[in-house]
Amino acid sequence: MNSPSGIVYLVGAGPGDPGLITVRGRELLRAADVIVHDRLVSRELVALSRRDAEIIDVGKSPGNPQDSQERIHQILCDRAKTGKMVVRLKGGDPFVFGRGFEELQSCRQAGVPCIVIPGVSSAIAAPEIVGIPLTGRGISHSLAIITAEGAGGVPPEYNYEALAAIDTLVILMGRAGLPRIVDSLRQAGRSPSTPAACIERATTPMQRVTVSTLGELVAAVERDGLKAPMVTVIGDAAAYPRTDEIGEMLPLLGKRIVVTRPRSTAQELLHALTARGAEVITCPLIKIQYQPNSQVRSTANASTLPLSAKALETYDWIVFTSQHAVRGLFQQSPIDGLDARAVGSPKIAAIGAATSRALGRFHFGPDLIPRTQTAMGLADAIRRIGENIEGMRILFPCGDQARTELVDELRRCGATVDARIVYSTVASVPSQDARRLIEEGVDAIIFCSPSAVRQFVATGLRAGSVLIACLGRTTAAEAVSCGMRADVVPQSPDVHELVTALESAFSMNPSGVAK
Ligand code: SAH
Repeated sequence: MNSPSGIVYLVGAGPGDPGLITVRGRELLRAADVIVHDRLVSRELVALSRRDAEIIDVGKSPGNPQDSQERIHQILCDRAKTGKMVVRLKGGDPFVFGRGFEELQSCRQAGVPCIVIPGVSSAIAAPEIVGIPLTGRGISHSLAIITAEGAGGVPPEYNYEALAAIDTLVILMGRAGLPRIVDSLRQAGRSPSTPAACIERATTPMQRVTVSTLGELVAAVERDGLKAPMVTVIGDAAAYPRTDEIGEMLPLLGKRIVVTRPRSTAQELLHALTARGAEVITCPLIKIQYQPNSQVRSTANASTLPLSAKALETYDWIVFTSQHAVRGLFQQSPIDGLDARAVGSPKIAAIGAATSRALGRFHFGPDLIPRTQTAMGLADAIRRIGENIEGMRILFPCGDQARTELVDELRRCGATVDARIVYSTVASVPSQDARRLIEEGVDAIIFCSPSAVRQFVATGLRAGSVLIACLGRTTAAEAVSCGMRADVVPQSPDVHELVTALESAFSMNPSGVAK
């Protein structure tokens, strides 16, 4: 054994929806030194990688799969032997027609430790996502999963009499090989009236279903133009897909939506969108830097002076308006030796649900969350709990591009407001990939801050007539002042409200083109 520290994890990525990977699989992706992935796995899962991780796409081209399989073994073993933690990310489950066992064997032969993390196989997920019961009392008591493509691209030599007697037959890789399997099953006595269904790109925004019978399946697939990857189900269970429910379960199915938020805070939004079936294009237009940045200068309204833990005690209130401010103050700012006890007496106000949650992660519960999430709303809420704003000392940790409304309003009410810059917002250039996808055409673009709107305009991208959704009124105002529109603005700046508002905008206007 060359190095005891290197290891390969064979991780099942699930069938397509990035939410269908296991929790363990996601943790490993975040920690990996090297990610070696297939063509069919979601881009979003790969994007969970560490910034410095090596990403290797070994998506097999139809060219010469044997060679590429050996190349994969080589890559896995070589990287692990240099002490790296390698995640081999495979579609569905690593072993279900995935050649995962060959990869495990090659690691074993090379003396490289290899651990398998099972995944949700498309063989199970594709039928189930459309409501086909693979087994069910009185419907199906036996299940077989076969492939339509063995070595050389033809179906393996199955015992079709035995297969014809299985209640539910699930066929993978069945496009080219499907007619042959259907013929063989019919010759083996399976009735042509047996229900049959094909599910293409299951659990992704491009999911499509064809429902038919064994006798007519090949013609129906041809007619609908179904393509790989698809799963075929044959048996009484296949009579049950509810294609009408899919629209309700996945109201954003088929929508391409651009998220311009920095990766560090986009996760919740990404999950909410993909869970509703949207295809998300991540195009971060800003980055948040918590390290004190020498480029950032104090302004008339806010200073960059470091805070000491002791100084915190001298404020009556600390007002947080974003999760970045929370992280900036408690996690990365130059406050020396701060722990939760050092905050002492000041009360804490939080604007927005995400800000409150961020405080919770540092074990602080806000004393005040104003219902109206504006400068005025905050001032009113402080007054309503019987506090006199006049003479009050307020600490406002903020970003270098923070708007001055809140500070102005509180100062106008007689408070002494100490605005401290604890993070900076830096422009980020969209990747070639994201730019190409946006130019090809999308259904909606989501902006979560005025700085992202400004950077969108600065990079020369054009929104055209697609729906523009803004998280918060300030962002919406910036979009309008930059000559764009704000078609969707939720009542409060909450990502779930934003996604719901987007859904209703699409249901009223399915083309997604703003009128
Ligand atoms: N290990 C994978 C299967 C790999 S073989 C798993 O467990 O899912 C590749 C085949 O899987 C494809 O040809 C197709 O039949 C099926 N497949 C994978 N993802 C799919 C999806 N999202 N929808 C439908 N079929 C899919």
